Amino acid sequence: MTKKIIRVLGIESSCDETSVSVVEKTGEKIKVLSNIVKSQLDVHKDYGGVVPELAARAHSDVIHKLIKMALDQADITFRSIHAIASTAGPGLLGGLLVGVVAGKTLASSLNKPFIAVNHLEGHALSIKLEQKIEFPYLLLLVSGGHTEFTIIKKFNRYKRIGTTIDDALGEAFDKTARLLKMEYPGGPEIEKYAKYGDENKYKLPLPLINEKNCHFSFAGLKSAVADVVAKNKSTEKFKKDMSASFQKTINKILSTKAQYAIEHFQRINKSKKTTKIVVAGGVAANKSLRVALTELESTHQCKFLFPSIKYCTDNGAMIALAGIERFERNMFNKLDFKPKPRWPLDKDALFMKGKRIVGE
Ligand code: AMP
Ligand code: MG
Repeated sequence: MTKKIIRVLGIESSCDETSVSVVEKTGEKIKVLSNIVKSQLDVHKDYGGVVPELAARAHSDVIHKLIKMALDQADITFRSIHAIASTAGPGLLGGLLVGVVAGKTLASSLNKPFIAVNHLEGHALSIKLEQKIEFPYLLLLVSGGHTEFTIIKKFNRYKRIGTTIDDALGEAFDKTARLLKMEYPGGPEIEKYAKYGDENKYKLPLPLINEKNCHFSFAGLKSAVADVVAKNKSTEKFKKDMSASFQKTINKILSTKAQYAIEHFQRINKSKKTTKIVVAGGVAANKSLRVALTELESTHQCKFLFPSIKYCTDNGAMIALAGIERFERNMFNKLDFKPKPRWPLDKDALFMKGKRIVGE
């Protein structure tokens, strides 16, 4: 019997990467036929952060070219695509509109289904682009816009157990780097400087560390860094020591909260199996964070899985994959589907920004 083939074109434009990909599923086998990513780093560099209006324009400048490139690299035509999937939220509205309108236009002119994908579902499933994983598992998403622990119970059943009440972790890296007069994006810069610094030189606060829950807060950390910066000359040595101290603090926070998340997961799942934790998002590229998290494997029955960097950061392949999962279940969307800048994966999750959490 010949195996069923499904091919989906995925479009990602929720923040500062435009990406288009074709992913194919044959039986149980997943293959990424193409994954074109155009980063907007140059567009936003001078501003020290993503400028929404410029991001939207930059997406619309290249989206049509990327669609063609993705098809060419996959060596297929529109005819052999079964559906078009676009990130429809959460993210910056202008960017989302570009990807969603491109997806809908293709779907309507080609007479193929349109699938609106939640960006976070893409991250949750991205590990499946490279390896098999059984449900349930934990997702730790650490990016420029998100910081959260979510239990991936099964497809379309997600339970968020922790999030940030202010800045995302990537934002904390970027803001600290800016205070240290480093280039944007700050994460890779801090990592570079930290390698040569004394991580015990500056003692920074560990916000919410004593709260036995999986929530985060990073805004206070930025203020603490600003205080130290104000009292010191911006020498190379200072930048190195501050970067190392900041990174050590972040690792301590993440590793403590990951322990709570694992314990929470094991308590509710009552399974003797090793808990798998997928770490996704741009900050997952940080090597010292990877080491700090992986150390938990010796004390907790757990295993950390890191997708390749190209699937950790924003990419169309994870959106196409989520599209395939939805296609298989006939979960299509109408062409009047509106992008949702705020769209939690777990619809029961509380909006936590600015919340004070005491002993939750
Ligand atoms: P994303 O939002 O997934 O596109 O990821 C971008 C974020 O990841 C930015 O805030 C970067 O500063 C951060 N980032 C990228 N590489 C690293 C790194 N090596 N260490 C820490 N943060 C990083
Ligand atoms: Mg990005």
